[in-house]
Amino acid sequence: MKNESGWKNKSKEKIEHIFAFCEEYKTFLNRAKTEREAVTCIKEYLIQHGFKEETHAHKVFRINRGKEVIAFSRGNLSPEEGFNIIVAHIDAPRLDLKQSPLYEDVGLAMLRTHYYGGIKKYQWVAIPLALHGVIVRADGTSIHIAVGEGSDEPVFVIDDLLPHLSRKVQDEKKLSEAIEGEKLTLLFGSMPLADEEKEAVKKYILQVLNEKYTIVEDDFISAEIEIVPAFKARDVGIDRSMIGAYGQDDRACAFTLLKALCDTNNQQHPCIAIFTDKEEVGSEGNTGLKSNFFQIFLYDILTGMNMKNDEAFMRKILFLSRALSADVNGAFNPTFQDVHEKQNACYLGRGVCISKFTGHGGKVGASDAHAEYVGEIRRLLNKEGVIWQTGELGKIDEGGGGTVAKFHAIYGMDIIDCGTPLLTMHSPFEVSSKLDIYETYRAFKAFLNS
Ligand SMILES: [Zn+2]
Repeated sequence: MKNESGWKNKSKEKIEHIFAFCEEYKTFLNRAKTEREAVTCIKEYLIQHGFKEETHAHKVFRINRGKEVIAFSRGNLSPEEGFNIIVAHIDAPRLDLKQSPLYEDVGLAMLRTHYYGGIKKYQWVAIPLALHGVIVRADGTSIHIAVGEGSDEPVFVIDDLLPHLSRKVQDEKKLSEAIEGEKLTLLFGSMPLADEEKEAVKKYILQVLNEKYTIVEDDFISAEIEIVPAFKARDVGIDRSMIGAYGQDDRACAFTLLKALCDTNNQQHPCIAIFTDKEEVGSEGNTGLKSNFFQIFLYDILTGMNMKNDEAFMRKILFLSRALSADVNGAFNPTFQDVHEKQNACYLGRGVCISKFTGHGGKVGASDAHAEYVGEIRRLLNKEGVIWQTGELGKIDEGGGGTVAKFHAIYGMDIIDCGTPLLTMHSPFEVSSKLDIYETYRAFKAFLNS
């Protein structure tokens, strides 16, 4: 293993190519700030590249409730030889509006939130935020909204306490307790409705909402509004070698998977790309990987190929399949080095990261890939000249994390974790290396073609 920067081996032309690839990635990140928006982008790209919703097509995709996509591309070999499967997720940590979010206090209109996934709450105060989502009205009609992205649009913010007054209520507390979940309330407006005595600001806000979106207060009950950072993806570093953006976990892998799938033609094994939802909350729910959507999709594909599709046959195929759990990994942090074990950490700029196992101390909850399968992936990446590294998430007793690998391991297929290293992971502004993004794409393409 050469533990060195992957940039060392790249020519000037290659670097230009990587930078151009990442411009497209940044556009994707800016357009896909929620799982629903990611689905819209993925669908559009799949259609442009010959994927159809018809079961009999050679390239098929299906959408589950606007939040999850599975795409399939036929290979030269029969599905009986097994699929090459890559799973990435398109949900990201964020704040969701509560179902009764709006209230007025001290002349300000506020929105209550409930955070989604693993966030450090203090990172979400005092930054510009945008609202994205869908509202279903009482009559069943719905409206998609996105406010806070255009430079002429308003943004929203969660108030933080000035340092002059925060000594007792924040500074002397533990970092994790300084901002409580219930305090993540969004500043939404401050202008009162003329000639109104009670809750005049709230009433004016409701009037604005009604004029703009034809909604009433109760419509929030059947709404899914996500609050995400309002910033755009930006180059990071004076050399522009990195990207800072919200939601790179796991849209880094979702984007590179989408590109790899659409650039793969005439491959041996049939390929499946899964862009799943709800990974950040344990893959629960009917758009998460634990739902039956995947099996139903398989049933459809096999029907489309005029093949047997009974339960036993499908189980056998899945048992013979090979998979990558495509998810990001925490890169070695330059300022908090103590949480990592240097020899087994992954590093920014050293290529796509392969993790034999994830989980917590003692490999609890881990899907641990077999040496034989690791060897197979290793040979493949080396053969294709992909720049890669191995990485374990932090020191043994420091914490840990899991991915969807274990849910697909249940089918008996071989699966290994493979994805892009990130700095400031799970923060509103995660940082990746452009080189690692590109090598992630190359690794996925090599795998789909193998
Ligand atoms: Zn993830």
